[in-house]
Amino acid sequence: MNEVEYKIYIDDVIRRVESARIKVNAHHIVKIVAISKYSDVQEIKNLYNIGQRAFGENKVQDLKAKSNELEDLPLEWHFVGNLQKNKINNLLDLKPSLFHGLDSLDIAQEIQKKCEAKNTTLNALLQINSAKEESKHGVMPEDALEVYEQIQKKCPNIKLKGVMSIGAHSDDKALVRKSFETTHEIYKKCKDATICSMGMSGDFELAIECGSNMVRLGSIMFNK
Ligand SMILES: *Cc1c(COP(=O)(O)O)cnc(C)c1O
Repeated sequence: MNEVEYKIYIDDVIRRVESARIKVNAHHIVKIVAISKYSDVQEIKNLYNIGQRAFGENKVQDLKAKSNELEDLPLEWHFVGNLQKNKINNLLDLKPSLFHGLDSLDIAQEIQKKCEAKNTTLNALLQINSAKEESKHGVMPEDALEVYEQIQKKCPNIKLKGVMSIGAHSDDKALVRKSFETTHEIYKKCKDATICSMGMSGDFELAIECGSNMVRLGSIMFNK
């Protein structure tokens, strides 16, 4: 696909996000985070050139490599992967704008310690395993509010901004919808939460319909 064709292609993706959010409410703004994990820096630059600023990676080493290589561009980097304890310092050093995958009080307390040592803070979302799938990370929906409040209380260097969830892995749209609704219900109860991150290439319209205000689009943004 050449540059002109890509522009036309991406217009259509943006139009789909736009019409989904207009259906919810004219004042409901949805932010697109382009997940660049399958893409190289040239592809990120192509998307930057047509206005995209927020990008996300799911491996700390990839985030480091790509953000370093693109450090001259005013990009906003998100980390959407699972964070292992031995990678916390590496992540903090990269100063990501938002970590989407905070998934336990235990890891939050480790992050808190490292943040104190470095005298820094980390913006984060609590990941919720809303469909209770074995294969997924995240806190169980029934525990989410309690964990959210505990982190707020015990981890002052973690700035919780809301919640994140991956839609149920199913062809049954009703099940996927239910998983998004579960997350959105929790979001509404979290004090001072402003970000509800849900929706990927295959289910973002449904996620927006259920109240998402941040979609993480990988393959569809890069036409993979
Ligand atoms: C890869 C990934 C995405 C994007 O997936 P696509 O289906 O390609 O849009 C979103 N969120 C997380 C956490 C991911 O790991």
